[in-house]
Amino acid sequence: MDLLTPVSQLNRVGKTLEKRLRHLGIETVKDLLFYFPFRYEDYSQVVLIKDLREGMQVSVRGKVELIASKRSPRKRTIITEAVVADETGQLRAVWFGQPFIAKILKTGDAVYLSGKVTSDFFGAQMAGPAYERVKTTSSETTSPLAPLLCKERGIVDTTHTARIVPMYSVTNGITNKQLRFLLSQAMRAVGQIKEWLAEDLRDRAEVMGLAEAIKAIHFPESQDDLKHAERRLKFDELFILQLRGEMIRQAIKKSIAPKIEFKEKETKKFVDSLPFKLTKKQKIAAWEILRDLEKGEPMNRLLEGDVGSGKTVVAAMAMYNAALNGFQTALMCPTEILARQHFETLLEVLGDKVNIALLTSSQFLIHLISNSPNKISKKKIIEKIGNGEINIIVGTQALLTENVEFKNLGLVIVDEQHRFGVEQRKVLRGKMRVGEQDLSLTLSSAEEREQVPHFLSMTATPIPRSFALIVFGDLDLSIIDEMPPGRKPVKTRLVEPRHREKAYQFIREQVKQGRQAFVICPLIDVVTTDNRLQTTGTDDRKTVMAEYEKLKSKIFSDLKIGFLHGKLKSAEKQATMEQFHKGTINLLVSTSVIEVGVNVPNASVMMIEGAEKFGLAQLHQFRGRVCRSTHQSYCFLFTDSDSPKVAARLKFFEQHTSGFKVAEYDLENRGPGEVYGTAQSGMENFRLATMKDGQLIKLARDLARGINFQKYSALRDKVVEWEGRVHLE
Ligand code: ADP
Ligand code: MG
Repeated sequence: MDLLTPVSQLNRVGKTLEKRLRHLGIETVKDLLFYFPFRYEDYSQVVLIKDLREGMQVSVRGKVELIASKRSPRKRTIITEAVVADETGQLRAVWFGQPFIAKILKTGDAVYLSGKVTSDFFGAQMAGPAYERVKTTSSETTSPLAPLLCKERGIVDTTHTARIVPMYSVTNGITNKQLRFLLSQAMRAVGQIKEWLAEDLRDRAEVMGLAEAIKAIHFPESQDDLKHAERRLKFDELFILQLRGEMIRQAIKKSIAPKIEFKEKETKKFVDSLPFKLTKKQKIAAWEILRDLEKGEPMNRLLEGDVGSGKTVVAAMAMYNAALNGFQTALMCPTEILARQHFETLLEVLGDKVNIALLTSSQFLIHLISNSPNKISKKKIIEKIGNGEINIIVGTQALLTENVEFKNLGLVIVDEQHRFGVEQRKVLRGKMRVGEQDLSLTLSSAEEREQVPHFLSMTATPIPRSFALIVFGDLDLSIIDEMPPGRKPVKTRLVEPRHREKAYQFIREQVKQGRQAFVICPLIDVVTTDNRLQTTGTDDRKTVMAEYEKLKSKIFSDLKIGFLHGKLKSAEKQATMEQFHKGTINLLVSTSVIEVGVNVPNASVMMIEGAEKFGLAQLHQFRGRVCRSTHQSYCFLFTDSDSPKVAARLKFFEQHTSGFKVAEYDLENRGPGEVYGTAQSGMENFRLATMKDGQLIKLARDLARGINFQKYSALRDKVVEWEGRVHLE
């Protein structure tokens, strides 16, 4: 038998079982070995019958004195009863609906029984225990103390009983017993599993050998053994992902990037011109970025900071320095609203120093030093980008799709990039051009020292450090986890349905004081069967259009209300946002399009319908829309769900103001897919590792950093093999 032996060649695998195994993805012995249990039953404690006590979950070893099946009088099921004895006493066992047991076990057989002990008038009993005949090779089998002696010597010769028993997730008619039986056969090939971690790496990671770990994950000899096996296998999952990130990181570092010299005098003047002092964390982040830009190798960095922590001005310092060195910056945003907003912010802080353009699929604006924004044709803008006249180009994906050629692109900044995959970053980098050069970046061509722009990604999505380490293995991290002084935390309340009127009253008062409010709904609209918008309360899904109609006609008929969602034309969205900015709209009903980065300092209330539909990280983003000035702000959550889990989540959100805290909670309780949408994190492929393995994550990252792939070529092979198998993207 070897690893590639088809399972059909194993003992007792017929056509049916072969097919069922295939459904579980198991075709070879190797597949079988890598099909891990999802939990265990610990029956390793073998006790004498006289020591059995109600409630114990244990094993006994004894002789079958009596066994018989009979039909139950009323229920018509078959009951199998047995008496098993050791030298200290008798134990009764019953099984329901398994008549064959009386054929398998015979009077006089030595057996193990494992199960939970109950007791009644007649003494100890086990209902439905796992059973297994004692293997008769050992001379000690006749002694009742044999199992205890075996245990002392660390020998476990059972598969289904008297040990830590693996439980697999089985479906379509395969039983755990069958799988365990097959695995006990497959163990003969376990020694052939190839180790891919060199010994010194295993030592540094403090993990056991791979073959040993695979054996122990199925048939652990102790809890300790199991713990070590899990550690090794989790480490493998995490380490591969880290190595993959590291390979890309090293390939990028091999390219060359423009040297952007830090212009101290000008930068200082710029910082002094700001109406506020930079926070300590802003200074550190800016320093890390500016230092990267000087190196001549491409920066590949993530700037992470809670909503409102002031990332924009840090980015502006980098863009300004690029311009001072004669290089262009492209700032890419996920939405037109955000692009427009960034364009305007940059005009404010850098408008007297550099030339800035806005280019989206529908907006073309240009600002030349000391001129106000001019609307010109798209063609003209693209021309001015091409001849280098424009220093900073703010835009959307349109920057990639339109035929934009940069004269000398030195820095690419991506704001609120919600897709995490290194793949996307690769594509993005590939599409960016410096002059005439094609920058598509592949691992193999990296040796040729291409010229690529520096890359900075910014996100306000709170991503706890350990998760960031996983999904951003290829990036360096700068984290601004400090708010500018004087910000008041948003007062957050989970509002019971019966207090809805009060919340409306509250909004009315805020509007009277000159403030504005958002109402967020999970959906755009619900179309009824006769194709009309549903506005009545029969459907409890909260929709933008239904809420808009309701608020306008019933609740706030005296206020000006607007609505916003992703299906509107960009010009419509723009017009609504402008009105909201100017304050001519009091209340804006919106979907999550509002989530990313929108800045309306005068808004003080964020009301969220169907709050359970959103991840806490996303709710936090919404909440961040209203802490943008010195006004006290409020966030009201509504839910119709009566699930205790939902209540607990929303309560946690209510009580924690840190984005990192709430994101961590969701990551641990719901997993990354739920929290960050269709995150291409690579974690989808984890079978054992989770976000709770923070220390192991960090260890994997530290070991991967700077690793020499020439020296450890097995690592590179492993990553390549892994990529071929999981098909990221
Ligand atoms: P985000 O990190 O969410 O992108 P912004 O960069 O939009 O945050 O900054 C939010 C607001 O805080 C802006 O109005 C900005 O001018 C202001 N701001 C930035 N840094 C500071 C600071 N150090 N002190 C006070 N206000 C600041
Ligand atoms: Mg921002």
